[in-house]
Amino acid sequence: MGKFRGTDYFGIDSLLSEEEILIRDTVREFVDDAVLPVIERHYREGKFPRDLVGKMADLGMLGSTLPAKYGCAEMNNVAYGLLMQELERGDSGVRSFASVQSALVMYPLYTFGSEEQKNHWIPKLARGEAIGCFGLTEPDYGSNPGGLITRAELEGDHYVLNGAKMWITNGTIADVAVVWAKLEGLIHGFLVEKGTQGFSAPEMTGKHSLRASVTSELIFQDCPIPRVNILPKTEGLRSPLMCLNQARYGIAWGAVGAAMACYDTALSYAKSRIQFGKPIASFQITQSKLVDMLSEITKAQLLSLQMGRLKDKGTLRFQQVSLAKRNNVHCALDIARCAREILGANGILDEYPVMRHMANLESVKTYEGTHEMHTLIVGEDITGIPAYE
Ligand SMILES: Cc1cc2nc3c(=O)[nH]c(=O)nc-3n(C[C@H](O)[C@H](O)[C@H](O)COP(=O)(O)OP(=O)(O)OC[C@H]3O[C@@H](n4cnc5c(N)ncnc54)[C@H](O)[C@@H]3O)c2cc1C
Repeated sequence: MGKFRGTDYFGIDSLLSEEEILIRDTVREFVDDAVLPVIERHYREGKFPRDLVGKMADLGMLGSTLPAKYGCAEMNNVAYGLLMQELERGDSGVRSFASVQSALVMYPLYTFGSEEQKNHWIPKLARGEAIGCFGLTEPDYGSNPGGLITRAELEGDHYVLNGAKMWITNGTIADVAVVWAKLEGLIHGFLVEKGTQGFSAPEMTGKHSLRASVTSELIFQDCPIPRVNILPKTEGLRSPLMCLNQARYGIAWGAVGAAMACYDTALSYAKSRIQFGKPIASFQITQSKLVDMLSEITKAQLLSLQMGRLKDKGTLRFQQVSLAKRNNVHCALDIARCAREILGANGILDEYPVMRHMANLESVKTYEGTHEMHTLIVGEDITGIPAYE
């Protein structure tokens, strides 16, 4: 398999620091050497490549922006974004694993957890010795999580948790679940440990998308949760939304990686596939498609980079993250579809990555806030008028 050399039509590398490039290239190599050789088989079998977790941990990919004192790499947000971009060039499912572990489990522990919770969990999660999941979505509450019906009640020295979650990435393999439930009507986060009485996490099957990622239900039947397992600084819907904003940031970058993989595949295929006595790259319609793909990738790269710089300055607004996630995933999906066209019948084979990326991106477009919800978030921001109901 040839090494990926990147897509950088506008010399965007010149805007990156040496350290950012080093981190990007390290992950790029990891994807070429460890992810791509195994991903199609795992995708076909519907299995998460769990062997990769230890290697990802060794390279500092889990909770990578969190402080070194918890065993994390403490990288800046641009480096973290580039990491996500490269991982998703491999597969959205592998990137989803890292996103959930980092942004939806380690970040809430760091932001809302007690010092004991942080010291107990974050280093283990960083080393990949523990896996986490994030349970917000319920069968009846997806885009509108504020209505969630999972309930916690205080009984003596513990809480009792009842309810169900659905579509939870990493659920079945998780050692700890960050679960959002209402306590006296207000949303709080709880740490539910594997093996807790009354807790089960069956894997969901039948997916045509994100097949190399574990997706699960979480079921809580009178689960006793020790009082020390509430995340003490969570209060209200704002807390899980802060986590989602963190994850969306990585997704916006990740989608660019999937798009780059599809563009790169389509470009090299078009140069070598001969029809009517010439490479299909010599036809104007094919060139027009390739140029459209490259233009969108270049815009998404610049958008991601500026988003990262704003995040590192501390001025990034969640509405800007919504715009970037919405734009980049939408473009990536269009690019994957267009790459599939350029590859003709070969485009549907798993010898090439485009159909896998295309199917994956259908999930990516829906999770962490659907395309439509991000439209409404930006719409409200620019008009001042909420249009959710
Ligand atoms: C593979 C995968 C992994 C996931 N991982 C996780 C996870 O780890 N943790 C977790 O908590 N969740 C996870 N999710 C769930 C995901 O976040 C939800 O699917 C998402 O929020 C959308 O909810 P829904 O599927 O119930 O769609 P719905 O909310 O039922 O929406 C259906 C359609 O209606 C549209 N819609 C809804 N409301 C409006 C409105 N007001 N205006 C206009 N259109 C509207 C939506 O945009 C969508 O197109 C995952 C989902 C998938 C597919």
